[in-house]
Amino acid sequence: MKISDILSRGGRPFPSLEIVPPLRGMTKDELLDSIRPLMEFCPKYINVTCHRDEYEYREKPDGSFSRHLVRKRVSEVAVCGAIMSEFDIETVPHIICGGAAAEEIESELHDLRFMGISNVMALRGDSIAGEKRFTPVPGGYRYAGELVSAIRKFEKENGGTPEKRFFSIGVGGYPEKHFEAPNLETDILNLKKKADAGADYVITQMFFDNSVFYDFRDRCRKAGITIPIIPGLKPLSTVRQLTLLPESFSLDIPVELTEAMTAAGDDKEAAYRTGTEWCIMQCRDLLANGVPAVHFYTMGKSRNITEILRECF
Ligand code: FAD
Repeated sequence: MKISDILSRGGRPFPSLEIVPPLRGMTKDELLDSIRPLMEFCPKYINVTCHRDEYEYREKPDGSFSRHLVRKRVSEVAVCGAIMSEFDIETVPHIICGGAAAEEIESELHDLRFMGISNVMALRGDSIAGEKRFTPVPGGYRYAGELVSAIRKFEKENGGTPEKRFFSIGVGGYPEKHFEAPNLETDILNLKKKADAGADYVITQMFFDNSVFYDFRDRCRKAGITIPIIPGLKPLSTVRQLTLLPESFSLDIPVELTEAMTAAGDDKEAAYRTGTEWCIMQCRDLLANGVPAVHFYTMGKSRNITEILRECF
């Protein structure tokens, strides 16, 4: 079933999950066992992130270096296949513009159709090490909006119609602004371009202050973005994340949460509890404020997410 159909049916808000494909070497059973505890809460779908191949430079005997393409993780398509073979749940592979030419993305869309996958998340991806700014490969897409248009074009060219689309498409939104955007207003106008290109819903970057999300949602509506906006949450689990997450995702962590996490000091369990309880508080508040669903970034950990789902859904 398409996520857009699930969302348009309305009803009680539901949880969805996002996982990162395992590093190569992990078995299918290990992956499925890591997800199994979360199935008790009947998440409607699982998003599977997509990771660009990286380059490694290896020194040769003559002292020069050769460049090697390295894929560290199992592909998102393989992970979706494994999940679908075990659980009765929709999977949403992420597709990124980075590192892929238009023809490669088209091939992936054919594979997804073949597998019976009818949901995708369309993203630009980030620059890779050594690249100052995101640069598409020749014949690739610059922005996620171009990718959304390309997916809609693919459908049209392969017998789809606006009434009978192959894919429901999600896109990313940034309550605290995408780090490259000059201001939130412009970023929201760019988000509208993704909606206008045919995206069905938005999933937001994680945030730790719900008022930031509510403000973002209001601004999006004022800008004419009418598609559902699903908040993305991640519970903090370590004190180190107080610096790691702002650095990686350009977001703010509220003073109150920072102080509570810092007070945990070396007590790992206390930090874990503080992060989990904050997330429960955020989730309950969001559910009371009209969100259609809550998306959880699990980062491969199920203990805290299980607890949050048990408390909130
Ligand atoms: P875009 O929507 O293309 O935006 C990128 C920047 O360009 C923004 O500053 C925007 O304001 C600007 N912009 C957009 N359109 C235009 C336009 N038409 N003209 C001018 N400027 C424009 N990354 C991964 O590598 N793999 C993943 O699986 C992954 N999953 C994610 C899931 C979610 C829910 C989110 C929110 C992010 C995810 N990311 C993932 C990270 C994402 O790839 C990065 O944040 C990336 O830097 C931006 O991606 P985007 O799709 O939002 O890009």
